[in-house]
Amino acid sequence: MSKHTYLDYAATTPLDARIGKELMRVAKKYSGNASSVHRFGREAAHILDRSRQTVADFFGAQFNEIIFTSGATESNNLAITGLVSAFEKKRPSVIPHIVTSVIEHSSVKEVIDQLESAGRVRVTRVEVDQSGIVSVDAIAQAFTEHTILVSVMYVNNEIGTIQPIRDIGKLIKKTNEQKESEILKKKSAGEKVSFGSFDIIYFHTDAVQAIQYCDSEVLRLHVDMLTASAHKCYGPKGVGVLYVREGTPLAQVLYGGGQEGSLRPGTYNLPAIAGFAQALQVVELSREKEVKRLTQLQSWLIEEMKQHGGNVLGDAQQRTPHIVSVGFEGVDAEMLALQLDQAGYAISTGSACASGAIEESHVVRALGISSSQMGVIRISLGRTTSLRELHRFASTLKSLLVRR
Ligand code: PMP
Repeated sequence: MSKHTYLDYAATTPLDARIGKELMRVAKKYSGNASSVHRFGREAAHILDRSRQTVADFFGAQFNEIIFTSGATESNNLAITGLVSAFEKKRPSVIPHIVTSVIEHSSVKEVIDQLESAGRVRVTRVEVDQSGIVSVDAIAQAFTEHTILVSVMYVNNEIGTIQPIRDIGKLIKKTNEQKESEILKKKSAGEKVSFGSFDIIYFHTDAVQAIQYCDSEVLRLHVDMLTASAHKCYGPKGVGVLYVREGTPLAQVLYGGGQEGSLRPGTYNLPAIAGFAQALQVVELSREKEVKRLTQLQSWLIEEMKQHGGNVLGDAQQRTPHIVSVGFEGVDAEMLALQLDQAGYAISTGSACASGAIEESHVVRALGISSSQMGVIRISLGRTTSLRELHRFASTLKSLLVRR
């Protein structure tokens, strides 16, 4: 066994041993293609149906509102591009408007940036306050007559802040109801107006970092689309889900076979889907206890980081218990992460490291912090993290900071 201590659970979680077993069992026993009509196919389809029902139950959704994908990146692409494409087909003369936040994961941010540079959408990117939280009022202010989508993440993956998803959902619901009643008034006054599925605002949330710790019931959140990924909750990598509320207009963005109502064509990765379903069941059973345990560990770590001169980023209350992002003035975060790795601790930095190029994190920048000011590291906790590990980590970090 490696002596390395893993403190990067927000990047990915290790596979739960029980789920590893389930993956192997399904892969061996159900080798048919779930779309085939013969016995092998039907047996695989049965596992698929059962898994879909488990996932639907977890989110309080209906069976047919769950779309399996290859991960959150694909789910986010489908949600945003699928809605915009569906709108374009119906209203080719209108450029739709999207409201999003400045702290989204790149799989939301880049999709919207691309659509904007292709001239297909107009975009308002709502700022966050110093504590890394989006204001519901700022979202309301951003609406235009052509707003079709609000996409705001549930929990930020770099700083762990919880966004007011339920309040944003309520705001959108109220705005849509007002729109509808205004149009109906005009109609009853004899005006030639209609109200349809392209006259309302849809709400998408990337809930990848939230589902382990936060209420993820879609009806309570008032979301139309929700993204999740198995490898952030001890399930396998390469499988995700997009919840799509019935009646939400989505056009397909991939073409091929007709799986998932044509929204996600391609042969099902059945073992991974079954593993994802089981991972969610484990989350449901362990959530309360794990939130309590990690909250205690996180509080200890935050105090410790402050004593070492660290600036803990993100709101003190509205945060999940698994992420501690901390900035140290005058410290090179990349160097510190490398030194910690050599000392046996796996953490990550506040910088996005794409194809070897180190870029400043847009999330850290959104908080008004520049990398020349302070180096930011992210420590993220999980099921096997213990106080002893954190004690050792903190004293190693302290010695590295003193040695500089
Ligand atoms: N959204 C968030 C908030 C994430 O943290 C991640 C993973 N870093 C993703 C999306 C992408 O997930 P996946 O690896 O399943 O594509």
